[in-house]
Amino acid sequence: MSPIEFDDWFDKHAAYFPGIRTWFGRQGEYSKDVEAVWRKDLAKCQLEDCLDASQQLYGQTENKAPFFERHAREVREIAQNLRMQRAQPPEPRYIDGEQIFGCLQCKDDGQVICWHPKVMTAAKAGTLGEPFTVYTCAVACECTAGERYARQGMPRYNAKQWRLVQADLPRSQQLKDLEDFMEASRLRPANQKVTF
Ligand SMILES: [Zn+2]
Repeated sequence: MSPIEFDDWFDKHAAYFPGIRTWFGRQGEYSKDVEAVWRKDLAKCQLEDCLDASQQLYGQTENKAPFFERHAREVREIAQNLRMQRAQPPEPRYIDGEQIFGCLQCKDDGQVICWHPKVMTAAKAGTLGEPFTVYTCAVACECTAGERYARQGMPRYNAKQWRLVQADLPRSQQLKDLEDFMEASRLRPANQKVTF
């Protein structure tokens, strides 16, 4: 990343981890040194990889202490892995004439169909099933194929926030599945992010 790209990346990274600016401020006279190390750590990475790496790191560290001091190295490692994956797009593979997919969830398409957040809210409130209130949306899959959609601004699938539509079930069972999911999600702790 160029210095300008680093600034751009840092702004977006700080949007995922708002506490990081305070953490930088607390380094006092050393904050410039820390910044210089970070710039050096990420100099050989590409902006798009670092942006995606920040998003992944955010997904991985939800509800955990943010360990800001290691962020540059974590982002670099994820970005380097993404770069390798992008350099080698998977070839379609076949076994006995049947195509084998790298991602069974989206069949390497990059998009999955989930319940719309409004429908999830309705399921939670017990108001599901009213006419015209049940609809779905496309979400970028969490696999490599989903990255290009995520970069275009499509929300990224994760199993905590989204519920896949069980396309092979009858509609009544699909909705039951969603209601069960929302019921279970009530038991999860609310946002317990730790900030230093
Ligand atoms: Zn996928």
